[in-house]
Amino acid sequence: MSTTLIQPTETGIAVKNLINGQWIPGDRTFESVNPANRTHVVGTVPLTPRDQVDAAVAAARAAFVPWRQKSWVQRAEYVDNLAQLIKRDLEALSRLVTIECGKPYNEGKADVVEALHMAQFMAGAGRQHTGYVVSSEIPAKDAYIWRKPKGVVGVITPWNFPFAIPLWGVLPAVVAGNTVVFKPSEETPVLGHKLAELIQEAGFPAGVLNVVHGMGEETGDALVKNKDVNVVMFTGSRAVGSLIKREAVAGEVHKFVATELGGKNAVLVLDDANLDIAVNAAVLSAFKTSGQRCVSSNRLIVDRKLEPQFTERFLEKVRRITVGDGLDPKVFMGPLVNQEGVTKWHFHNEKAIEEGGEVLHHGKELTEGALAHGNFVEPFVYRFEQYKPGTFCLREEAFSPHTCIIGVDGLEEAVRVYNDTDYGLAMAVITEDYRKWRYVRENADFGLGYVNLPSIGAEVHLPFGGVKGSGNGHPAAEGAIDYLTHRVAFTVNHAEEILLAQGLSADL
Ligand code: NAP
Repeated sequence: MSTTLIQPTETGIAVKNLINGQWIPGDRTFESVNPANRTHVVGTVPLTPRDQVDAAVAAARAAFVPWRQKSWVQRAEYVDNLAQLIKRDLEALSRLVTIECGKPYNEGKADVVEALHMAQFMAGAGRQHTGYVVSSEIPAKDAYIWRKPKGVVGVITPWNFPFAIPLWGVLPAVVAGNTVVFKPSEETPVLGHKLAELIQEAGFPAGVLNVVHGMGEETGDALVKNKDVNVVMFTGSRAVGSLIKREAVAGEVHKFVATELGGKNAVLVLDDANLDIAVNAAVLSAFKTSGQRCVSSNRLIVDRKLEPQFTERFLEKVRRITVGDGLDPKVFMGPLVNQEGVTKWHFHNEKAIEEGGEVLHHGKELTEGALAHGNFVEPFVYRFEQYKPGTFCLREEAFSPHTCIIGVDGLEEAVRVYNDTDYGLAMAVITEDYRKWRYVRENADFGLGYVNLPSIGAEVHLPFGGVKGSGNGHPAAEGAIDYLTHRVAFTVNHAEEILLAQGLSADL
């Protein structure tokens, strides 16, 4: 059996909430549309009010103790079931990613494959260590550092990796013994619903994994403010992440918020760079997913010695970029996710011109023929011969196909320019010199670093997260178990008498 695919109805798939193992339809709904053709309704989706979010959290709380009492291996078995279902439905899910969020099919597939890898990784984590033994000052004592689940985890995710990112949070949470309430992005609720269907089919007990749909301001807000949520795992923009961090934690000493936010990433092309690698890495970093990755590079920081050749070859490739519906295999850039994305792209381009950027390729919004009902734009490329500190366009995330070539003199200036933003997520350095990449590794602010690669291309068994304004240093994927569990100290005495550390007397 395979999960249902797009139904040819006017209202698309009827999305429901999954609360305590029951499918709950919405009294109020909204539509999710295809960004390549806004007249195509992909699904009709509940707008979940606060009391229903509270019911989902209560269901997760009730399921917590029995779920915690299972072993890590038992819990991981359910994740293994889920991995097999994702593998079974890989093609259909990949197509749905393209239809609901616009990414070209190959990228949609990579998203689902990343989700599959996370499921495989976490299924294996059930048999990894769940704590460790450390030595004690007292020979007859065994001291353990033990991982215990925290309770109910609220997972709030962005639209741009609609299948992979939810599983970065949900799976480590449940394998570690927590229960979950997940709110998908309002742009990709049908994918959230497909995930909920697979969760049901995988046999997770009722209440362990709950899914509620709706707008961030209402449904998401209710989730982060619910006092019975122990951990909020948030991935999204810096603005919303900061708001959540202020509101979710306010007065709640027990509550933890992990934030994975945006970036103003860069490719650093040093004076000894292999130009073929540099140009390809720059195109992939700036324009894959139409620049809508948290790790997309809005800045190409290029040593002046190579800048003329680099720019000429980069622009040659940019002019050949194909824009269109991601289901067409010839397309490199799909649509932006919504009309606000198009407005934001125009805004960043205009700011770049206003702030003195020299426009090298003025991409247009495409509104004719087959593209008339989609959110299609072409790449926008500009240049600053000298770095201009304090400019909006060189410091703020554009999250669209908008990038700047910045000329610099040498390694140290390249790193100084790179660091001059409030973000610190991803960077790539193109060089043949191990001393230079080591200097960059030691001096640049980043969570994800690449040498002779684009600034994109993460894998689930590595930590994923940024520094400075890109997050609070609690990486997702590999790193998530750390904040989804309490590391408790547990000490056992094997002697017939009480002996205390630090020479403390136990005499009564
Ligand atoms: P977003 O607008 O910040 O939304 C992210 C999630 O937060 C959505 O589910 C959203 O719901 C919800 N939300 C919005 N307001 C909320 C509130 N007041 N309370 C609770 N939840 C709320 O981000 P986006 O546009 O979906 O994604 C793009 C951003 O995510 C970019 O900045 C990108 O760099 C970043 N990102 C970061 C990473 C990372 O790992 N560092 C990965 C991917 C993307 P609605 O959809 O209903 O608004």
